[in-house]
Amino acid sequence: MRTTAVIIGAGQAGLAMSWCLAARSIDHVVLERGEVANTWRTERWPSLTLLTPNWQSRLPGFGYQGKDPDGFRTLPETIAFLERYAQLVSPPLRTNCRVTSVRRTGDGYEVGTEEGHWHCKAVVLATGGFNIAQLPKLSQEVPPSVAQLTTVQYRNPQSLQRGGVLVVGAAATGAQLADEIERSGRPVTLAVGEHVRAIRTYRGKDLQWWMNATGLNDERYDEVENLTRARSLPSFQLAGYPDRRNIDLNALTSLGAKLVGRLAGIRDGKAQFSGSLPNMCELADLKLNRLLKRIDEWAAENGVSGAVDPPHRPEPTRVEASPPLGLDFDRAGIRTIVWATGFRPDYSWLHVPVLDRKGNIRHDGGVVTQAPGLYLLGLTFLRRRKSSLIDGVGDDARDLSAHLAAYLRENRIGRAPGLA
Ligand SMILES: Cc1cc2nc3c(=O)[nH]c(=O)nc-3n(C[C@H](O)[C@H](O)[C@H](O)COP(=O)(O)OP(=O)(O)OC[C@H]3O[C@@H](n4cnc5c(N)ncnc54)[C@H](O)[C@@H]3O)c2cc1C
Repeated sequence: MRTTAVIIGAGQAGLAMSWCLAARSIDHVVLERGEVANTWRTERWPSLTLLTPNWQSRLPGFGYQGKDPDGFRTLPETIAFLERYAQLVSPPLRTNCRVTSVRRTGDGYEVGTEEGHWHCKAVVLATGGFNIAQLPKLSQEVPPSVAQLTTVQYRNPQSLQRGGVLVVGAAATGAQLADEIERSGRPVTLAVGEHVRAIRTYRGKDLQWWMNATGLNDERYDEVENLTRARSLPSFQLAGYPDRRNIDLNALTSLGAKLVGRLAGIRDGKAQFSGSLPNMCELADLKLNRLLKRIDEWAAENGVSGAVDPPHRPEPTRVEASPPLGLDFDRAGIRTIVWATGFRPDYSWLHVPVLDRKGNIRHDGGVVTQAPGLYLLGLTFLRRRKSSLIDGVGDDARDLSAHLAAYLRENRIGRAPGLA
């Protein structure tokens, strides 16, 4: 089978790219191993609500049209939203069609699936940046009496054993699950390393409103000082609940959760934690205050200050001066560990030598320069701070589809294009 471009994945990234290629009359096919929005259907816990407000889900040709722009979508609403987008895009879509290999050929690529091979000039990898839940090696040392699960396996607090739960990781997912599990009556201990503290509302506006208005979400990958670091930062401690409550560490300790430092080791049924918790919290407070200062400056410069509430600063994170450095799982009654330690993409089927030693694809803002015609979409800070958000993938898809179109044009005369 032949086509000009193959898009792998029918999440928001694959659908947005299909819209953009169709707008340029580029013949293509979208191959999806499950159904549209497969990741949201199969790899997220049922109570998840988006941490981005409804208005913040603009995709090429599509956006929020309901009556609650400041509300937050539930998981079924998110799936329905992407289904509606797929109806609008109406992509040449093959569902239940897993890609098992991608190889270079003389004049392009061969994409292998369980249904046969596609030959094409260009391939867009829109397979998601969060495919595999990362498990630290020390998970192998957990005593058998303690159940372990990743955030992909987690469903709800009721399916956990009765008793204490150690949640490892305090980015958005870890903090959201700590909140939900503590509220279910299971005492939570939260192991906290470097984290990004956030507050839902500032000066009467949603934090994402400020991130959008100030242009911070649009900050480009070639403008930030340290891109590697920007790409590996934990997500904001944010949740999208109807009461717009915070899920920062102060909110979690008010509920009753106990804070410990980063999980550093497990030996003889005991966990060991780093002593850096107070420093980590101080750093997170400092960074949040820096962000709020930047927002205040922008508001003053842009004549917005009078139209919003006055500036304020949140109370510093409350943390014990010497938090516990060890914990005996049995004695502390810990029956479950939830590993909220991040995700990584899966490229086990990609047979093009473009991976670095950490297994990530080397690319320049989504253009895989070592393999002309190969593109990436949907990863954290791919081209902008907002790249991995529903609201962010559209601009990246527009840029990359323009590059892909130029590549196809210029490829005919044998020249590689420059990046627009
Ligand atoms: C827990 C969590 C919460 C999030 N919350 C928000 C939020 O509130 N707001 C927001 O804007 N963003 C959020 N994000 C970020 C982002 O919006 C999602 O990760 C989103 O799913 C990314 O869309 P995508 O299209 O890039 O990837 P995915 O949605 O993962 O889509 C990739 C698609 O590729 C398919 N695929 C993968 N491998 C193959 C293969 N070999 N062959 C064929 N098909 C394949 C998958 O089945 C999947 O359908 C969240 C992310 C996570 C992990």
